Amino acid sequence: MQPKKRILSGMRPTGPLHLGNLHGALLNWVDMQETYDCFFFIADWHALTSDYEDPRAIGGYINEMMIDWLSTGLDPEKSTLFVQSHIKTHAELFLLLSMITPVPWLERNPTYKDQIVQLSNKDLSTFGFLGYPVLQAADIIIYKANGVPVGVDQVPHVEITREIARRFNFLYGDVFPEPEAILTQTSKILGTDRRKMSKSYHNAIYLSDAPDVIATKAAGMITDPQRARRTDPGNPDVCNVFEFHKVYTDRETVDRINAECRNARIGCVECKQIMAQNLIQALEPIRRQRKYYEDRPDLVADIIASGGRKATTVSQQTMAEVRAAMKI
Ligand code: SF4
Repeated sequence: MQPKKRILSGMRPTGPLHLGNLHGALLNWVDMQETYDCFFFIADWHALTSDYEDPRAIGGYINEMMIDWLSTGLDPEKSTLFVQSHIKTHAELFLLLSMITPVPWLERNPTYKDQIVQLSNKDLSTFGFLGYPVLQAADIIIYKANGVPVGVDQVPHVEITREIARRFNFLYGDVFPEPEAILTQTSKILGTDRRKMSKSYHNAIYLSDAPDVIATKAAGMITDPQRARRTDPGNPDVCNVFEFHKVYTDRETVDRINAECRNARIGCVECKQIMAQNLIQALEPIRRQRKYYEDRPDLVADIIASGGRKATTVSQQTMAEVRAAMKI
């Protein structure tokens, strides 16, 4: 039997996980466990590239993130789940790769330019922020990952990793495979205000939200902006609540709402209540699992430690090859 191809992906622990994370990455990761040898890591050093001024919250989010992952279905028996900063070899490879990475490759990174503008409230003129694609490359190739699941907008990141791996192999001999970008569907779930769901926009519904919190957030969602009164016909095609219905509500009810909205036979208050109930129900298994892991902090710590041991073993094997290739 062919060995499974290895994939690697990570998340920055900068806040609790929300529906955007669930549909944009996590559910996909859960599926991929059946097909690939998966390495998933909590990228706490990457969180520092933008949150270095106040890193206190990052530690707390690490544990919460692992609980969210486990509650959603990531299985430590199938996947290697670990915390980046526990595996010090990432830092060693980052340092070595930074010696061979031309600065213009980093300066032309579209995310770098974009984030400098978007996060203008933070001083991102740091070496760490400019160099984060090198750290990302180290994270990926230290496990000799064959693929990285990404949305279309993240393909340039994988391209830089491939270029760095290629340059290393050219200079010192073949050590690293060039990882492929595995394109995944990006989330259609927007925030409650119809912008991208994000902690910083205060428009997120979190996996850890209690049912009453979800109901309140759903009640405040933006609908069809043209529908001012209950008696006005609405247009589900431009309504964010209707997008949620398409994910969480059964087909028959979706069709009914679609028709009734257009001739004002259903009001937005009722429509949102139906959606909220379905969303609360859909998240119930995650909520139950979350409680299970919250009640067992030692088990969560053991899972993190065990994933860390496996990641350490694999990464140390690669680093032995790297040192031999570089003759250092
Ligand atoms: S009835 Fe539902 S689908 Fe129609 S505008 Fe209101 S919330 Fe949106």
